[in-house]
Amino acid sequence: MEKATTRSRERGANDEPGSRGAPLKRDALREAELLIRSRHSLLLAETNDEDRLVTLLGHVADRLGIPLFHWSRSRGLVRADEPSADAKGIYGSADPSNALQHIAHAEAGALYHFHGLPAGTVEGSLLASLFRDAAATLSHGTGAMVITGSGLELPPEVERVATSFSVPGPSREEIRALLGRIVRDLSARSHLEVDLSADDVEVLLNHLNGLTAMEAEKILTKAMIEDGVLDRSDIDIVLEAKRGIVEREGLLEYYPVEDTLVDIAGMETLKDWLRKRRSILTNPDEAREFGLSFPRGLLLLGIPGSGKSLAAKAVSSDWRLPLLKLDPSNLYNKFIGESERNFKRAMATADKMAPVVLWIDEIEKAFASGGSEDGGVSQRILGSFLGWMQERRGDVFIVATANDVSRLPPELLRKGRFDEIFFVDLPDADVRREIFRVHLEARDRDATAFDLPSLAAATEGFSGAEIEQVVVSALYAAFTDGETLDTALLLREVEATRPLSVTAPERIGALRTWARERAVPAG
Ligand code: ADP
Repeated sequence: MEKATTRSRERGANDEPGSRGAPLKRDALREAELLIRSRHSLLLAETNDEDRLVTLLGHVADRLGIPLFHWSRSRGLVRADEPSADAKGIYGSADPSNALQHIAHAEAGALYHFHGLPAGTVEGSLLASLFRDAAATLSHGTGAMVITGSGLELPPEVERVATSFSVPGPSREEIRALLGRIVRDLSARSHLEVDLSADDVEVLLNHLNGLTAMEAEKILTKAMIEDGVLDRSDIDIVLEAKRGIVEREGLLEYYPVEDTLVDIAGMETLKDWLRKRRSILTNPDEAREFGLSFPRGLLLLGIPGSGKSLAAKAVSSDWRLPLLKLDPSNLYNKFIGESERNFKRAMATADKMAPVVLWIDEIEKAFASGGSEDGGVSQRILGSFLGWMQERRGDVFIVATANDVSRLPPELLRKGRFDEIFFVDLPDADVRREIFRVHLEARDRDATAFDLPSLAAATEGFSGAEIEQVVVSALYAAFTDGETLDTALLLREVEATRPLSVTAPERIGALRTWARERAVPAG
């Protein structure tokens, strides 16, 4: 499928007044207009905000000076400017084949919006040839068909000849205006007390990013009318509602930006890499002018427990971006085709929520099973993922983690996919000392009261997770026996632990050998 991108930019976006719904950003309008003028006559619009798309199409049709038709199952093709009560629709066009034949024979150019085209009514190859004929006619003049519908599954023959474009969601300023309007409306009708600082408003707006105007309006109105107050407690209500919407599809988990920074020992090279790119996030416009673009993502390799997940969380906390976690073990689903659709939906959600960090945990599990045994589903999902990475619609930074390089598809490792591949090795003595300090302090113990050098010396070959486990087990033991936690108790737990580097040295060896040529040490 051909692809076109419509980037949404909050700052500097020039708003076009809309007749219905929220105003649209001019660049989305330009993008659609340009596609049609350049004879892309079959467009797949990705949106879950149909109202917004309808407004956009109305503007596009006006600018191109052509009529707009909406197709529906009940009425077929109806001209948008006909009063709805007596709009009859073109005779017989409720049948998609007839509608397409009508378009193929129409003399004048027009914009046709198909919403809710039922899957499977026309056989794939026939539908594709009808679409092709209609598209060929339209490409001689000015006009296009735009197909939408959430979860729309078009036959691959049709997808192949189509161009996809996405409709950006509302900008921050639009949501700010919406918030103002809801407050005014509710205050006019009943008593509403507003107690939010300017900073609270910004946090509220952050949580609303990625939602449609309708979703944001519902959440805000509900939060306000429940107790007649808009205050800090509503921030949590909004956050929970947002989490519900993002997690509804079952593939993504949402972690908002936390106030506290993630404390991570070692990985200095990785931290430095992240620090250097932070300014792109804080000064995006300046950075872009300077010729820098939003970073793509990282692949982190290392044995289980080496702190890769912690590093993913650290990116989010350091860059002050929310984190979306995609867990591939939820991906494969017994319904054929569902997995692929769910995956595409998850990617579209990530685009909508941008700027965001997308953490794909154990990425090898998403694509590993390969060709035959799953009917090629994992291969197709990998294809979608690579395509999505290439397009980069929104500012989505990927942090992929992997324990097992032998199961990673080589396509994923090709240059340009990720900005960098980091290998997180077992911590050296200095880092082990730091890890002890982090985990003792996290449990309100004074780290200076412990012999950290001895502990570090005794834990050669331990991973960060194993060191944390030593601290936790020693705490349990101290609590049960009524003792205080001290170095001796910790050393006893160290003695009782058999780290992975002892039980499965070959796993670490294999990773190190692989990483030597292809990855950068994280610390
Ligand atoms: P992985 O994702 O590599 O399997 P995790 O990030 O889940 O490992 O590590 C498990 C836990 O071990 C973390 O939650 C953290 O508490 C601890 N840990 C691992 N590495 C470090 C580190 N470098 N600094 C601090 N804690 C660490």
